[in-house]
Amino acid sequence: MNNFQGRVAFVTGAARGQGRSHAVAFAEAGADLVLCDRCEDSPVVGYPLATEADLAETVRLVEAAGRRVVSAKLDTADRAAVDALVARAHDELGRIDIAVANAGVTVAAPVQSMPSAMWGEAISSNLTGVFNTIGAVAPGMIERGYGRIVTISSMLGRAGNTNMAAYSASKWGVIGLTKSSALDLAQHGITVNAIAPGNISTPMIHNDMLYHMLRPDLEQPTADDVAPVFTSLHAQPVPWLEPEEITRVVLFFADEASAHISGTVLPVDAGNAGRVT
Ligand code: NAD
Repeated sequence: MNNFQGRVAFVTGAARGQGRSHAVAFAEAGADLVLCDRCEDSPVVGYPLATEADLAETVRLVEAAGRRVVSAKLDTADRAAVDALVARAHDELGRIDIAVANAGVTVAAPVQSMPSAMWGEAISSNLTGVFNTIGAVAPGMIERGYGRIVTISSMLGRAGNTNMAAYSASKWGVIGLTKSSALDLAQHGITVNAIAPGNISTPMIHNDMLYHMLRPDLEQPTADDVAPVFTSLHAQPVPWLEPEEITRVVLFFADEASAHISGTVLPVDAGNAGRVT
């Protein structure tokens, strides 16, 4: 059982999905939380992103666990906004010990017809947002000589797939960023590790855009219709995993005891890791 009593954890993209699961787990393990989410749709993302009500619900769940929380509606691609939240967190909660760079989007189109705006969205949210999160928290962690940073890549950060050039490139980028950051911060008691999830059961995969892309032969594809396609992306016979499976690994990397694990990528992808380097 992890114990994060007295720690402060920052989770980006915390309004719903995996981010909410991580935030609530940290709260239940005793940490105070710093939360952010964009809470706004993007014109080039083909499914709804989270809402302010979603973020308010995560805040409520953290407070219900008896923990303090500082939250903001912001885009992680906006470095000034991330810096401002980190400064507020330092004022109100004293520090940030743990950062989980989780915010991200999926965009999908063949590379030959992908609009630049779609490419830009994936790189901004999935890669620049992670850089901004690490850059914003690192100085305070260096000052205190302690930090645990966890980034979220993807099984598409170790392979490619049709329609996924931007997403895949951004998630390969997260791995390079993670490994290099781990080296830059190694002298300061800070670890940086990536998780590469398979299909995780959140609104990022359960949406009409993706369902239609995976089953173009059907007018109204359902979860049951797309499940076999998702299963084919894993080696074990399961279409998707629950966010809590990723949370367990986030908490492992965030633990004080994981002091000498840094610069690694841990796949949680129902065995697909066996197929990639
Ligand atoms: P999700 O869509 O439920 O959650 C992502 C959250 O990030 C949303 O609340 C969204 O509003 C927020 N967000 C997006 N862009 C943002 C930005 N620029 N600034 C601030 N907030 C932003 O999906 P999820 O599955 O919980 O995704 C979490 C992470 O896991 C993402 O990085 C995603 O790429 C990664 N991932 C997901 C899967 C999957 O199958 N669901 C697989 C591999 C990796």
